[in-house]
Amino acid sequence: MTTPLDHLPVVIIGAGPVGLAAAAHLAERGLPFVVLEAGDRPAAAIREWGHVRLFSPWRYNIDTAAAKLLADAGWNRPDDDRLPTGAQLADDYLQPLADLPALRPHLRYGARVTAITRSGLDRLRTAGRADTPFLIRLHHGDDILARAVIDASGTWRTPNVLGASGIPAHGEDTATAHVTRALPDVAGRDRAQFAGRRTLVAGAGHSAANTLLTLAELAEQEPGTTVTWAIRSSSPARTYGGESDDALPARGALGSRLRAYVESGAIILLTGFGIRRLTTAADGIEVSDGTRSVTVDRIVSATGFRPDHTISSELRLDLDPIMGSTRALAPLIDPNEHSCGTVPPHGADELTHPEPGYYAIGVKSYGRAPTFLLATGYEQARSVAAALDGDWEAARDVQLDLPETGVCNSNPVLGDDTIAAGGGCCGTPAATREPVAVGLATGVTGGLLRAPLTVIDVSDSPNEQAGGCCS
Ligand SMILES: Cc1cc2nc3c(=O)[nH]c(=O)nc-3n(C[C@H](O)[C@H](O)[C@H](O)COP(=O)(O)OP(=O)(O)OC[C@H]3O[C@@H](n4cnc5c(N)ncnc54)[C@H](O)[C@@H]3O)c2cc1C
Repeated sequence: MTTPLDHLPVVIIGAGPVGLAAAAHLAERGLPFVVLEAGDRPAAAIREWGHVRLFSPWRYNIDTAAAKLLADAGWNRPDDDRLPTGAQLADDYLQPLADLPALRPHLRYGARVTAITRSGLDRLRTAGRADTPFLIRLHHGDDILARAVIDASGTWRTPNVLGASGIPAHGEDTATAHVTRALPDVAGRDRAQFAGRRTLVAGAGHSAANTLLTLAELAEQEPGTTVTWAIRSSSPARTYGGESDDALPARGALGSRLRAYVESGAIILLTGFGIRRLTTAADGIEVSDGTRSVTVDRIVSATGFRPDHTISSELRLDLDPIMGSTRALAPLIDPNEHSCGTVPPHGADELTHPEPGYYAIGVKSYGRAPTFLLATGYEQARSVAAALDGDWEAARDVQLDLPETGVCNSNPVLGDDTIAAGGGCCGTPAATREPVAVGLATGVTGGLLRAPLTVIDVSDSPNEQAGGCCS
């Protein structure tokens, strides 16, 4: 039986690693698709942090359907055990993937999506909704019709603010000349901004750790370079992560090296420092938490990312009020509830919204959670492509083997930053969590409210990247 939608393509938003994985899975299944990418080539976001080395080796960074298509075209797979930089991920894997004959004709670059809706229906209208094509509007005014939408547009363009309360700190809007966004190329392109100067890095995730390490190395070469690290928590334990217990040695080493620099005094650590005010001073920018202040030349804002749901505001989304992910996924990734960098296997069911046929996958699917890994996104892409093909058996056969961080704990980090012991975090939902209804055969989420959290560490909000995170 065919429906009026069957002749339309699936639209994928974003030609990052997860959007391209979705394209590979749809191509494998012979389903028509179009990929709309805002940048002028694939992996536009990753290329902006191309100088950063990933902590996960190639074996975790390549999607299975993509690998098969590439192998059929004679591609030389990189060494599974090596750690690529972002630039290598883009040049050695994603660009060749996007250039394959199975994908290239279906990719549109310079195509920024500004809105997604149902053709002729606003969010209020229910009658005939599921059989009405999606309408995707591009920035230059073109409209594209689709039978389904896979939104893999990431979170890179919507970083969190410096202000500790989730809104800009006083003076943040006018201090932009002193603020650099996350992951500057300290050793290369952006070196002059930092050499011989005083820098404060705000944030507690891997973006902050990466930048702090490169700044500390720069300080060893360039006299006058100072490095201050401001975190809201009372302890940097979560940033140090599992160290030698981490299943990804490169991820563990980030924490160990950072700890060594802090303990040696090469990095000045300010704990419990939630930024409230930025004031331009004669000799730099003064950063204050309300009681203490420090004056520096430059601030690196490495406070994490948040999803932008404005393009889908005419769709019926059921977003978790804390994470901004689907409600089914939220309790599995909420850093208020556990600190591990792994997640139970999940797919189309857990990613389903009340709007049938719309799925956000990739790092955007995680909302504000900082622990997304590519391998998770590739399994989401596989499952969603299967669901769109009506193959629910494959869609529900979700498998995920993620390397653990070595700091897997259920129960939130407590106010004094001691981590409560407990199992049930990695691989299974935390025991403290109430069950959440996941997708039904029709693909509609049950919509139960999440259990209220009983313990929240207000000194370390989930907006800030936490231990075991990847960005
Ligand atoms: C510095 C850093 C290091 C990381 N290291 C690791 C690691 O070692 N291992 C790991 O597994 N994960 C790592 N991650 C996490 C994660 O894998 C990456 O963030 C990854 O890029 C997410 O892929 P994605 O396809 O979901 O989103 P993105 O890579 O952000 O791709 C989104 C794409 O959508 C496009 N786009 C955005 N908006 C629109 C729009 N409106 N219309 C059209 N196109 C749009 C963008 O231009 C971009 O090309 C890291 C992340 C960062 C930031």
